[in-house]
Amino acid sequence: MRDGRLLPSLAAPSTPPLDERPGIAGIAPAELAAWAGAQGERPYRARQIADFVWGRLAAGAAEMHTLPARLRAALERDFRVDTLADTSVRTADAGLTEKALHRLADGRLVESVLMRYPPRGGRRERATVCISSQAGCAVGCPFCATGELGFGRDLDVAEIVDQVRFWARRLATEGRRISNVVFMGMGEPLLNADAVIAAADALDDPARFGLGARHLAISTSGVIPGIERLTAMRPAWTLAISLHAARPDLRDILVPLNRRYPLDGVVAAATRYGDVTGRRVSYEYVLIDGINDTAADAGAVGDLLRGRLAHVNLIPMNPVAHTEWRPSGAARVDAFAREVRAAGVPVTVRRNRGDEIGAACGQLAAEQAGLAAPGAVRRRRDRMEREGAAALAARRP
Ligand code: SAH
Ligand code: SF4
Repeated sequence: MRDGRLLPSLAAPSTPPLDERPGIAGIAPAELAAWAGAQGERPYRARQIADFVWGRLAAGAAEMHTLPARLRAALERDFRVDTLADTSVRTADAGLTEKALHRLADGRLVESVLMRYPPRGGRRERATVCISSQAGCAVGCPFCATGELGFGRDLDVAEIVDQVRFWARRLATEGRRISNVVFMGMGEPLLNADAVIAAADALDDPARFGLGARHLAISTSGVIPGIERLTAMRPAWTLAISLHAARPDLRDILVPLNRRYPLDGVVAAATRYGDVTGRRVSYEYVLIDGINDTAADAGAVGDLLRGRLAHVNLIPMNPVAHTEWRPSGAARVDAFAREVRAAGVPVTVRRNRGDEIGAACGQLAAEQAGLAAPGAVRRRRDRMEREGAAALAARRP
């Protein structure tokens, strides 16, 4: 740098220009028809394109071989047929769980997971895909690898549904289909509600992905305005609330959004959703050894949900690298389940899937990011753990 210029080797790496073309799977049918019309095409061409996107799960314009070359070229010019630049897959549980790490056009990493459930007791085989709605997450729950990453950015509609198209394509090679999609990957869906609702619509819509409303679940840490917005839409989607603590002081620590949207309001909004849609609300409860798994905690869950159209899923915490917290032991999990059931609230214990591939969403992206948690995230976590310890010391029976 003697002459004041950067040496070539130290100059900022040249980044390729960002691909600004929207993903085609995020384009609503009316918009696609308008685009085709503007290209001088007849209306059936838009339907043909949609069939390639949704029926044949095309990942590139070249696969749309029955379209005229000029239309394929126009498509390539104006859209990306797949917004996932690159994907790597890891497998666990003897092939029953597969986890994908997707790289987006700007280099951001997001994850999705496929969980296969073999047929059991007259129940048909199922394949559930768990997808991400944001790169990172601003909520910052201290037991969650995505929270540790901090917030990156919202995903757009195509980036969300392309995760589903990725797995659908993979399953199609085995003659299988996706049976359920859950928004339980990275990010807080209802803090990206416009894109998430549009993506859920595309997945639900018989003319597009055609999953069916009853096969779709949206999980939220408790964004009350988002829950109210869903309620007004009256969809038949399943709403899942990430509860994790029924005592407000503890939930302030475990789900920091509780300070903005306190639990009583969240449960009231979720109950209205259940009443209006007739759908039972799921409450997710990650069990962390010695933190939120006492009989008093279970009693508080029972008191909170008694008499409501609710169902509790207990999930022993997936160990994640950035925290010492561990899952509750099997005996405590069973006791907790009994204690909640005693209040008449239905409970299911969920087995951990894919521990060895970091199936708690956010883990792979965190590893790739080098887990060099930005200072601010680390300080926030340290503060939470301190506050958590203080709150626990003062309040635990
Ligand atoms: N942000 C939304 C949806 C994505 S998180 C939400 O929090 O609801 C999906 C689920 O994974 C949540 O219930 C979350 O609490 C859970 N989760 C996060 N980290 C986990 C871990 N280490 N072990 C088990 N479940 C975890
Ligand atoms: Fe965000 Fe959900 Fe993780 Fe909390 S659990 S940090 S809300 S992704």
